[in-house]
Amino acid sequence: MTIFTIDRFVETAGDETVVDMLVIGGGITGAAVAYEAASRGLRVALVEADDFGAATSAATGKLIHGGLRYLKQLEIGLVRESLKERRILSDIAPNLIDVYPIVLPDSDLVVRLGLTAYDVLSFDRNRVDDRNKRIPRHRRLPTDEALYYDCLMISPERLTLAFVRSAAAAGALVSNHTRAEELLMEGRQVTGARVRDRFGASHVVRARVVVNATGPWAYDTLTESPVTAGSAGQPPTVRSEGIYLITRQLTDVMTLHVTPHGHFSCAPWRGHSMIGPTEKAYRGAVSDWRVTQESVEEFIAAINSAGLLPVEIGLDDVLHAYGGLRPLTEDAGGDTYNASRAAEVVDHAKSDHGGIHGLITATGGKYTTSRAFAHQVVEIAAPKLGRAMGRSRTSKTWLHGCSTGPIEHYVAASRSRNPDFSAETVRHVARHHGTEHDAVLDLARSTPELATPLDADGELLAQVVVAARHESARTLSDILMRRTGLGTLGLPSDEILDAVARVAGQELGWDDARRAAELDATVSSLTLPWHQPA
Ligand SMILES: Cc1cc2nc3c(=O)[nH]c(=O)nc-3n(C[C@H](O)[C@H](O)[C@H](O)COP(=O)(O)OP(=O)(O)OC[C@H]3O[C@@H](n4cnc5c(N)ncnc54)[C@H](O)[C@@H]3O)c2cc1C
Repeated sequence: MTIFTIDRFVETAGDETVVDMLVIGGGITGAAVAYEAASRGLRVALVEADDFGAATSAATGKLIHGGLRYLKQLEIGLVRESLKERRILSDIAPNLIDVYPIVLPDSDLVVRLGLTAYDVLSFDRNRVDDRNKRIPRHRRLPTDEALYYDCLMISPERLTLAFVRSAAAAGALVSNHTRAEELLMEGRQVTGARVRDRFGASHVVRARVVVNATGPWAYDTLTESPVTAGSAGQPPTVRSEGIYLITRQLTDVMTLHVTPHGHFSCAPWRGHSMIGPTEKAYRGAVSDWRVTQESVEEFIAAINSAGLLPVEIGLDDVLHAYGGLRPLTEDAGGDTYNASRAAEVVDHAKSDHGGIHGLITATGGKYTTSRAFAHQVVEIAAPKLGRAMGRSRTSKTWLHGCSTGPIEHYVAASRSRNPDFSAETVRHVARHHGTEHDAVLDLARSTPELATPLDADGELLAQVVVAARHESARTLSDILMRRTGLGTLGLPSDEILDAVARVAGQELGWDDARRAAELDATVSSLTLPWHQPA
């Protein structure tokens, strides 16, 4: 088995590329749009300014969920669509998604009615290929709490990458670290964009349709070009910040705390607890947003006063903090929590959206519904392309590398084939690399250093080589935060950082200065705000 390689097309494509559709933004929305379009026979280019899935798509609570709370807001359509997509994603990426139990402390009549409706709306939840992905009905526990189930991504970062790889396998040209700097116009028709490779030159992508899938940056992307600025509408006055804290493991099961203006949970994840999200208004520039000490302290105070955890926590308990800005599509005034999470697609050809042809803005609302949203976006783009498209197959086709079948059988079979690796390593590599994992383990066997486990999950330096050689990782942060999970539980030890930087540097041709710069950037981004040098 070989490992499929995604190449950055801007490194090899000369000065200009011509496609049917250019997708700007490689979060889950852009990745899913690129996959949907390429798999239906369109020529597609996808550019991402940072790394694939580095922004909002990595800031999630990792839930693939119907959104129980949206029932209260009577968003029945959104809940039903999300529950359907939960089932589809479990089928097309069985290695990256698990069924996940959730406890609601209160099980009064309203909650029980809501959960019953949730069960009814997910009537097809057990029509899945893998028996382990079947979802039981909710039930009341002897403690008077309610137990229900949703799904959890073991790695939202690798799920986004799986969509990017599927797009590339279907013929899409993809490039991370490539920013769209300016939309190209002929009159009121968008004809592509000038894009800049962070490590190289600028490049022109000509396209009949451009999809602006830049999430919280969607408004900024439109205002960067004078002609489209007029179609951007009013600047968002408020955005919703959400952060998560990673601590040692504090609870065995995900427990929710709900108030009328927010909710947060404490969820077991990789032997740790993931606590969040917050819901806080943010009024600054999108690119200036960071997790701040103030936000963390406010959240810790809220956690402790809610009494959700068996112990009180403080700043010293926080190993890692991450988050992002929700791309809300409605003006929520001050109440961002109750604003809709529905996705929104804007066809700028319509006169009330600027009368700009060949431009679509696609703002994703939930990670869970991105595949269905991508289908909607491509259907809107189709008449603008002047060419026929194939039928959509994305709901019935495994994502690239995810055709493992029932995942527990797959892991068990791998363990018998690969007895020379620990159970943790086999499980981790099988789940994160799917059908390519034997090739990853073979690579590890070829050099003893690459086979040494680096953390409790059994992650290997061989995965660093794969990230750089095959998965388009170009920075230390790409490798630590999104190709592996080595940095997602907090700043790794100096030994791990040095080993990863050395192996990555050998693969990517870094000199000493570049390796030192990569290490500095990673240490600075993973150092918690209250530990930053003054
Ligand atoms: C705190 C929080 C928790 C959440 N939890 C969940 C959850 O548990 N489950 C769920 O289903 N959903 C969840 N969501 C919602 C979900 O994360 C988003 O709906 C989804 O990630 C949006 O993806 P996106 O691709 O539209 O945006 P993004 O992931 O932000 O992608 C946009 C991309 O565009 C790139 N970009 C910007 N400008 C340019 C440019 N000029 N050129 C090229 N690229 C550019 C950015 O670098 C970025 O990577 C959560 C959101 C937040 C904030």
